[in-house]
Amino acid sequence: MRATIEVALLFVFIGAVPCTAWLTGVLALDRDGFVPTGRGAEQAWSNGQGPPLPLETNRPGIFAAGDVRSGSVKRVASAVGEGAMAVQLVHRYLALRA
Ligand SMILES: Cc1cc2nc3c(=O)[nH]c(=O)nc-3n(C[C@H](O)[C@H](O)[C@H](O)COP(=O)(O)OP(=O)(O)OC[C@H]3O[C@@H](n4cnc5c(N)ncnc54)[C@H](O)[C@@H]3O)c2cc1C
Repeated sequence: MRATIEVALLFVFIGAVPCTAWLTGVLALDRDGFVPTGRGAEQAWSNGQGPPLPLETNRPGIFAAGDVRSGSVKRVASAVGEGAMAVQLVHRYLALRA
């Protein structure tokens, strides 16, 4: 269906293409090239020692945060928060293996 609408402003929200080509064969990527983490990475989990931590990719000890992460909110505050979370999760990952 086509319609002509009078507007004063127009916001174009067309999505984004992640710069993850270099990760092909290194980390599991979803069909759009974003990095699955946590439960989303479980299928490709290469550890075999229980489920991945939140933000953990399919490679044990490698975490992803922000826009590059599959299913992330794509907002500044979320990216910053996930970055802070990732630091704590790395500590937890190391503590679990100490
Ligand atoms: C036009 C536009 C408007 C937006 N407006 C808003 C808004 O109003 N409010 C809001 O909350 N969010 C907004 N966003 C979203 C917000 O910008 C992102 O959610 C946020 O920047 C994500 O942060 P990030 O650190 O995950 O990724 P990014 O900010 O994209 O940072 C990733 C960095 O990694 C670098 N990089 C990429 N590949 C490599 C590589 N191979 N090696 C080294 N460095 C690399 C990139 O150059 C970049 O500097 C907007 C985004 C766009 C595009």
